[in-house]
Amino acid sequence: MPYVHDTLERLRKSSPAQTEFYQAAEEVLECLRPLFDRDPYYHDHNIIERIVEPERQMMFRICWTGDNGRVYVNKGYRVQFNSALGPYKGGLRFHPSVTSGTIKFLGFEQIFKNALTGLPIGGGKGGSDFDPKDKSDNEIMRFCQAYMSELYRHIGPTSDVPAGDIGVGAREIGYLYGQYKRLTGRYEGVLTGKGLDWGGSIGRKEATGYGAVYFAQNMLKARGENIEGKTCLVSGAGNVAIYTIEKLLALGANPITCSDSRGTIVDNNGIDLALLKELKEVKRTSLEQYLTKRPKARYIPATDYPDDGHAVWRLKADVAFPCATQNELTDTDAKALLQNGVTCISEGANMPSNAAAINRFLNANIAYGPGKAANAGGVATSQLEMAQNSSMEQWPLVKVDAKLKDIMANIHQQCADTAEEFGEPNNLVLGANIAGFRKVANAMIAQGVT
Ligand code: NDP
Repeated sequence: MPYVHDTLERLRKSSPAQTEFYQAAEEVLECLRPLFDRDPYYHDHNIIERIVEPERQMMFRICWTGDNGRVYVNKGYRVQFNSALGPYKGGLRFHPSVTSGTIKFLGFEQIFKNALTGLPIGGGKGGSDFDPKDKSDNEIMRFCQAYMSELYRHIGPTSDVPAGDIGVGAREIGYLYGQYKRLTGRYEGVLTGKGLDWGGSIGRKEATGYGAVYFAQNMLKARGENIEGKTCLVSGAGNVAIYTIEKLLALGANPITCSDSRGTIVDNNGIDLALLKELKEVKRTSLEQYLTKRPKARYIPATDYPDDGHAVWRLKADVAFPCATQNELTDTDAKALLQNGVTCISEGANMPSNAAAINRFLNANIAYGPGKAANAGGVATSQLEMAQNSSMEQWPLVKVDAKLKDIMANIHQQCADTAEEFGEPNNLVLGANIAGFRKVANAMIAQGVT
């Protein structure tokens, strides 16, 4: 269809060198073809060209002082992509690989993910190429204060509400929030992922990981199976990976791996959650230290897989949870996963599987839950935090968790129903993209040309 092709070509020319963004846009637009074939309405309103262009993008300089007294400079970003369904909502990523293209890809995915939650939130994303690794607490604080000194003028509790992502956890949200209050004098829900004593929601920290497991449960249930007793592969060792592992253990599954950028732990007796939390949430150290307390586990350095893929995906298992970063799962990994018996994949990370891997999963007709559906539990619970902040309440865990479970079941149902409607049952990628797109596009059309 020339409409889709022409839009992608125009994007490549008008936004050069944003490979991850083209990848995300291509996946969505290709899935929308059957919708456009059936319904010229969206074409008549020129919706694709409008939806791939952010409403607004901010790029700014961040200057901060190191413990050695030197001044350092980083780039800061915030993309306010689409507000048709509500205030911009999406996390902040601090990682040296961040570029304006990374933030655009994440913001674009966020539009459809947020729409799938059924909650009134638009799509946004932000971050910096700052590397939090090996920085002291004081350096992290000064960087966060410098970042917020520019960001505060662009955000607000009913206009744009950032949260965490890679490199931005509870500590960073605390420093960012402190600076926002200092600059504005306001105590309001302008960030989510806050501490429980100062406006945070119970269950937010756990929500993305728990949600990815609930999504897997829904996919398995649709095939007459259960997560209990399943051997699971998890990549990453950050927020999403840790709480994926926690929920898997609680449900009687056996997660045998976790990983960071330096290597992979394989523990056939099940990952020791308390040890993992101690290493990553308290000591913030390398996973290799896991072996000092669990000598029977195995450590595979990332250098063993320098060019193509990840050690996590080369083991025998039933279910896989990619929870580290984009494009961490290649076609070679996908082939290995299928050969090793994996029949269900639920993505905790954003766009962790590359396009060839996704095609392989769809052709094999396994249960494959794309990130924009399977990891939406985090942003959904962020919206619950916004609701609690605006009513000055704090809900108990049972209430938040029940809502999270319902939201994940609804997302799965919407994706499955939409896939069925377009004649491709089990294709949850197509289901997620069309279901998310329709909500946003219909709202944009109803609100006129803006
Ligand atoms: P964290 O920073 O807490 O953890 C990220 C983990 O992934 C770390 O173990 C990190 O290892 C590893 N990792 C990061 N980059 C690479 C890389 N290039 N190669 C190998 N490993 C890498 O982030 P989160 O857990 O919050 O986020 C993980 C994923 O989940 C991201 O894709 C994020 O966008 C997505 N996500 C997060 C949500 C949330 O609520 N936090 C919500 C929805 C999606 P190391 O420390 O060594 O770098």
